[in-house]
Amino acid sequence: MIKVKLFEYEAKEIYKLHGIKVPKGVVIAKSDDIEKKIEESKLKFPLVVKSQVLVAGRGKSGGVKFAKDINEAVTVSNNLFNLEIKGLKPNFLLIEEAVEHDNEYFASITIDRAERCPVILVSKSGGMEIEEVSKKSPESIIKYHVDPILGMRDFEARNIGYKLGLSGKELASFTSFLKSLYNIFEMYDGDLVESNPFTIVNGEVIALDSRIIIDDNSVYKHKELVANKEMSGEETEWEIRAKQRGFAFVELDGNIGIIGNGAGLTMATMDLIYEFGGSPANFLDIGGGANSERVKEAVSLLLEYPKAKSIFINIFGGITRCDEVARGIEGALKSVGKIKPIFVRLSGTNEEEGKRILKELGISSYNDPIEAARSTVNSVKGGE
Ligand code: GDP
Ligand code: MN
Repeated sequence: MIKVKLFEYEAKEIYKLHGIKVPKGVVIAKSDDIEKKIEESKLKFPLVVKSQVLVAGRGKSGGVKFAKDINEAVTVSNNLFNLEIKGLKPNFLLIEEAVEHDNEYFASITIDRAERCPVILVSKSGGMEIEEVSKKSPESIIKYHVDPILGMRDFEARNIGYKLGLSGKELASFTSFLKSLYNIFEMYDGDLVESNPFTIVNGEVIALDSRIIIDDNSVYKHKELVANKEMSGEETEWEIRAKQRGFAFVELDGNIGIIGNGAGLTMATMDLIYEFGGSPANFLDIGGGANSERVKEAVSLLLEYPKAKSIFINIFGGITRCDEVARGIEGALKSVGKIKPIFVRLSGTNEEEGKRILKELGISSYNDPIEAARSTVNSVKGGE
């Protein structure tokens, strides 16, 4: 499965198509003649040189640098190509005219899973990561839910701008900016569309930074965005390993390993984990009718998968037999020398036998998935 995080420069291309103003810039590749490329671009100094890696917080990691002349720009560029940020080195840099500004705002659109609709967050305290802002000055964040059927209407965007303290030309520019962000979010089935920071100069909104993350399931609608595979998020090592074993697996950012049978149940299992404040480390669907060998493979994978600190196995035994599942777990524990807390929701065919086997292994089994999810989430709390 492909995770579609767009690079800043790709996101800015989309922003431009939707009428959002971004600083003038040029993308340079590692193999380019940097000096020539910058000179040909006719950008005005000072410039900002920005590492194109798919992580947030590049600024803090030294991935955003200023250059007052061509010599500095070349030096800084060479340095940035060699600078590893959170384990990643860029293949591209975005070089832009440094916009002089005295304000930095924040805007993001994402999905509020609990409310089942898009949610907009905006704040005057841009530049920082939103988690910091919400700790330091939660009152400065404006939160607004959008009706996904009606979409974002003019007056809604305007009201949000008004709450930000904008008026006149600034308010008009912000209104069209926010509507464009929302259009992008809708059009690309966004998981996240964010500009942190954007600034307002001479009454006009300029997006200094841009992030777009697209829902995996809508990739087929936007093939143009993943055509450039080298740039747009490849399958991770673990996704490849899982695929080789024939599993539907998606790597995620949390710390709870998930195994379910059937895509629907597996997704519902992830929702349960979120419900209790936990965060899944993966999606792994072993499919229907999985025998002990398949379960063993899946559990072994998660025992080795470092992101998973605890494992939640949610099996609804219909075609799948519970004793097969238990034997699979037993097999995995014996073959992989690692031990992690495992929580199993087991109900269905041969349930008693399955539970007996698990009990002997010292693994808790549950009939109620809610109980099982709660226990799993508790097991990783405080352990981070
Ligand atoms: P991030 O740290 O990965 O989110 O990268 P950003 O693109 O947000 O850049 C970090 C910081 O660099 C921003 O908060 C800005 O203060 C500054 N910055 C980024 N782009 C520009 C620009 O075009 N002009 C100026 N003057 N500052 C910029
Ligand atoms: Mn940023």
